[in-house]
This record gives sequence, C-alpha cells and structure tokens, in this order.
Amino acid sequence: MIPIKSKEDLKMLKKSGKILAEIMQRLKEVIKVGISTYKIDQLAEELARRKNALPAFKGYRGFPANICTSINEEVVHGIPNEKRLKEGDIISLDLGINYKGYFSDAAITLGLGRIDSRTEKLIDITRNALSQGIKQARINNYLSDISYTIQTYVEKHGFSVVRQFVGHGIGRSLHENPEIPNFGIPHQGEILKSGMVFAIEPMVNMGTWECEILENGWTAVTKDGMPSAHFEHTVAITDDGPEILTC
Ligand code: MG
Repeated sequence: MIPIKSKEDLKMLKKSGKILAEIMQRLKEVIKVGISTYKIDQLAEELARRKNALPAFKGYRGFPANICTSINEEVVHGIPNEKRLKEGDIISLDLGINYKGYFSDAAITLGLGRIDSRTEKLIDITRNALSQGIKQARINNYLSDISYTIQTYVEKHGFSVVRQFVGHGIGRSLHENPEIPNFGIPHQGEILKSGMVFAIEPMVNMGTWECEILENGWTAVTKDGMPSAHFEHTVAITDDGPEILTC
C-alpha cells in the first residue's frame, strides 16, 4: 500500500520541500570551476541548519556525507572530497533534508563551464524526462505510467535509464513505499490517489544503463565510463494534478 498523507502532513512536507529548493538554488549559484565537493558538502549542511533542517543522507545506512556529489561517469552516491571541479565536468547534486520529521529529496545536474554538446543534451533530456514523469503523477493513473513515460522519453533520444536505482515514496521517512523505477510497462501497480508523495528521479546514462559500485561501497559509476545525469523532485499528487514541492 502507498501511504496517503494527511492535510497537516502535506503542509509540513511543502515547507520541507521549499527549504530544500532554496538550498539547491543557493548551491547552484556557488558551484563553479575550482570549488571542491567537500566545500559544497559543508555549505549544504550549513544552509540546512540555518533553516532548522538536517541533511537526511548523513549516516543513512552509514552514508558518510551530507550531500551526494556525483561527477561525470558517477551516477549516484558520489562522496564529497577535496578534489576541485574543473571545466567540462558535470556534477549531480542529490540532497535530502529532514525538517521537523518531514523529508524531501531533490537532485540536479550542472555543467561546469563549457561542456560538450552531447553531454549538454544528456542533461537536457534527463531534466525533461523528470518533467514528463511528473506529468503522469496524477489521480487515476497507474504508478508504472510514470516509469514507462520516463523510459520511453529517454530511449527515444538515444540514452538509457539506470535500472539499479529507483525513485520512491517519501514523507515521514526518506524512503517509503512504493519504489518508482524509471523503466517498465504502463498500467501496472497501484492506482494513484490524492495525498501520495513521491520522489521521482530519473538517472540517465549516455551509454549503457549498467552500473558498477566503486570500492568505497557507495558510489555507482557507469560500466562504460560514459557520463550520467540525475534530476529529482519531491512531488505530491493533488486533486488539481501533480504539485512539485521542491521548487
Ligand atoms: Mg531520492
């Protein structure tokens, strides 16, 4: 069963999402060539605490940082370090926060300086795939309509969707039911209802969809070393259609 949120819970989740959106906006503004991912991590924590929120990934199943910073061929769960970003890199920032027991989760991919046109396209298609998926997050659609729409959109543009990691329900905990794959056939799973809240998050690879995990036990990289992009929003299903909480 997919949890249905009460009006009060939705109100708090909206607050959580708004705080996260503000943090992401600030991070977007400061990320440039020469900054280290460690610095981004410290800033993410500082910004969250200033708004009475906590970074939700820190310590989650032992994750060692506040934010995931995944560069180039890294798909998800990149761990911040002292290495500095350079011209032509792309970086995916994935941040979850806990605001008074209400969780929200969002991700963006940014290019540093001038990036090649195919990589630029990868970022655009991933961002659009998220928008396409969100449009399906409406009452009386099936859960897998989101998955199917994302996959077909991405593959139509010659890229591939990651299978190993998926979107999820979210609310009073970071990961709730259901899992929301970015692939699948339509009209499967539960029928969507008002009050469901999802973290929808396409992870899109330029080459193969297959991933490997680095020796740190966390960071997923593409098997062929080609770049990967990631966008995510926390979205509530309402009577009036999908409402993005993290923007
Ligand atoms: Mg997530």
